[in-house]
Amino acid sequence: MKKALSIDIGGTKIYAAYVNEAGEIVSDIEKHATPKTSEEIIEKLKEIIANHEKEVEFSAISTAGGVNKENTKVICSTANLPFGYPKTDFSALSNKPVFVENDANCAAWAEYKIGSAKGYDNNITLTLGTGVGGGIIVDGKLLKGKSGVAGEMHFKMSMDKKRHCSCGAYDCFEIYASGNGLRITGIELTGNKDITTYDIIEGVDKGDSTMLRVYNIWQNYIIAGLIGLADIFDPDCIVLSGSMGKFCDVEYMQELVNDEIVTLPTKILHATSGNYAGMIGAALLGFEKFSQACSK
Ligand SMILES: [Zn+2]
Repeated sequence: MKKALSIDIGGTKIYAAYVNEAGEIVSDIEKHATPKTSEEIIEKLKEIIANHEKEVEFSAISTAGGVNKENTKVICSTANLPFGYPKTDFSALSNKPVFVENDANCAAWAEYKIGSAKGYDNNITLTLGTGVGGGIIVDGKLLKGKSGVAGEMHFKMSMDKKRHCSCGAYDCFEIYASGNGLRITGIELTGNKDITTYDIIEGVDKGDSTMLRVYNIWQNYIIAGLIGLADIFDPDCIVLSGSMGKFCDVEYMQELVNDEIVTLPTKILHATSGNYAGMIGAALLGFEKFSQACSK
């Protein structure tokens, strides 16, 4: 079976492994510390690709930031990405083809092909972590929009300028629905500026009433966003992934979402494609793109 070198650029670690056409990781997973500057990240990518490109059909990269329709460049970014990184043409990093895609889009594709959304041609995956990413699949195709960056979860929850988001704007869905959003809700309700998401989740597990209030407010922000997404995209299901996704009460969310939407009921599900969804999704999207190119 054909295989790709797949690379996931995370905030602290870069992972690399071979992934086959079935979405299986078929090698050891290399782990590298993510360098501090964009130039160093590119050098590290070149080094990883040079070590492996002879063994694979192509290289696939999952990264933060919005990626163009050609899957060659990061064309917009949030504060998480080092300055200068968006100028890089990833296709120049290897003698073989290179495919790059936004990490949440990759995670969504992995959920669609091997995870919770398998068999559902209309689905959305939200990656709930420090921030929030999103990938939208419509009629079996990843929605890219006019420039390639559709699915960014920075739609407005209010115009009151209460919370400053990582993207520079105020009151985006992300700054309410993310782990950071949970922490800010915790600060608002307790006055404790040092409170962490861990403290809140631990408090919920112990039945602390204030922490339960914080958690319920956070879940309601997510539900508000899910209602909007369900009405606009009419998905078979919405998958909640990322480090915070597992803390969501999906049955409760599904009930409230379906009470409010005007379309037919949808499913709210936990992700099942695992910690390496970004890497798997990048490779599977690359196989789609490059096998189409070959058959033309
Ligand atoms: Zn934002």
